[in-house]
Amino acid sequence: MPPKNSNEKGLDPEMADPQSNVTESTMTKDTETVAEFRARARTWLAANMARVPKNPADLPIHRDDEASWARVRQLQRRLFDGGFAGICFPREYGGLGLDYAYQKAFDAESEGYELPLILNAPSFAICCATLLDTGSEEQKKMHIGAALRGDEVLVQLLSEPSGGSDLAGVITRADRRENKWVLNGAKIWSSGAFAADYGLCLARTNWDVPKHEGLTMFLVPINHPGITLRRIKQVNGSLEFCEEFFDNVELGDDAVVGGVDNGWAVASRQLFHERRAVGKGSEFCSGVGIENFDSKPADLVELVNETGQAGNERVRELAGRGLVHRAVRDQLADHVYHAVLDGSLPQAGGSLLRLCLGVTESLVSDIALAIAGTASVVGNSTEAFTAGQRYLSRQGDSIGGGTTEIARNIIGERILNFPREYAADRGIPFNEVRKNRGHGTSSQSEAPPT
Ligand SMILES: Cc1cc2nc3c(=O)[nH]c(=O)nc-3n(C[C@H](O)[C@H](O)[C@H](O)COP(=O)(O)OP(=O)(O)OC[C@H]3O[C@@H](n4cnc5c(N)ncnc54)[C@H](O)[C@@H]3O)c2cc1C
Repeated sequence: MPPKNSNEKGLDPEMADPQSNVTESTMTKDTETVAEFRARARTWLAANMARVPKNPADLPIHRDDEASWARVRQLQRRLFDGGFAGICFPREYGGLGLDYAYQKAFDAESEGYELPLILNAPSFAICCATLLDTGSEEQKKMHIGAALRGDEVLVQLLSEPSGGSDLAGVITRADRRENKWVLNGAKIWSSGAFAADYGLCLARTNWDVPKHEGLTMFLVPINHPGITLRRIKQVNGSLEFCEEFFDNVELGDDAVVGGVDNGWAVASRQLFHERRAVGKGSEFCSGVGIENFDSKPADLVELVNETGQAGNERVRELAGRGLVHRAVRDQLADHVYHAVLDGSLPQAGGSLLRLCLGVTESLVSDIALAIAGTASVVGNSTEAFTAGQRYLSRQGDSIGGGTTEIARNIIGERILNFPREYAADRGIPFNEVRKNRGHGTSSQSEAPPT
């Protein structure tokens, strides 16, 4: 008989999320309160989902492994059949159409169970959320529904070999030929594309207008014969990243998302959702816990104990600093979510979460390495050795989802109303913009005008 995890962890299952605008008495359309929904989720999870193993090294999910993606698709299907998929997605597209409070209630119950967490980003919280805002009725019905059933995985095809921060400067092109769009170019750093069905791909459709005005977003089937996909090995050994080369990839008009030459509006929405997802403030992310072994956060307390340094005041201070930063980050997610919702913060508020995550995770990684010392490369301490491994990809949290430098620019310009950064290519037709000879990109980076 599986234990009742909420009681085990000392959670009060009758408590609604204190940060939520929805009270315990709030009813769903089916007159189910948050508390009733939570109780039902608790029972269902215990009966239907496996517990995560005690040792994170035994977690069966790895982002760079095809079998893991097949497994998470099955888990997602189980959630869907059980009536717990897409809690905040509208009913007409396969979701439950419920408020964030219900998602938070499910999250609180979900800790400790194996869930398809790797589908949260980018598939649900970034790609499906963007389709929800900007896609056609047909695209929403087809792709959001398929993703919620576990039949489809979506990824982002934004960054290019010539650069990622200057997203509006992409040079992958889509040309109109005989009622078709023909895609040529290359994308890179596409997380999990090898296991995906569709990618949201930003391409240039008009070269005679300033860079933001000549872009179109396409939904591209990853297994298209005109796409050559290669996997990239990272310093930590992961093969999750992919690069794609497009050679005359033919697409119909039904692949266009949000209108021709309107790609920047779609991309801006995508970046908005990405920053919230990366910063852990998206209602479209479902479930909490350790996504896969590589994503297990450093356990600073365990590290201090394992390395026998609990009596060292300096070490305790270091660990405390990391824990306080994490606590602030967690509180900030709720605060920013509601502030953007009630209009007291502009939509660019998601960049605060993105920045906070990047800064916090880099700091915690540094602290863990400082505490672990040489035990991070030799010795028997599991936590210390993982700190060493984790340090190899420390910088990823400051780059993925847009860099922390770009987040700072956005916060300065769009939240604090500082003057905009100078851009040599502003207002100039893209085909007249000076490009680096080697890269063929815009010579001046610009913070995306979300
Ligand atoms: C874990 C991870 C997952 C990712 N997943 C995806 C994915 O799924 N799909 C995808 O398309 N891409 C993905 N990326 C790529 C990511 O979006 C880009 O790496 C990122 O946007 C930065 O682009 P770049 O690496 O080309 O750096 P560049 O744009 O070349 O920037 C280089 C450096 O210059 C700084 N810089 C650039 N312009 C400015 C400016 N105007 N002001 C101040 N500083 C500036 C940057 O902050 C950075 O430090 C991922 C990256 C990581 C690390």
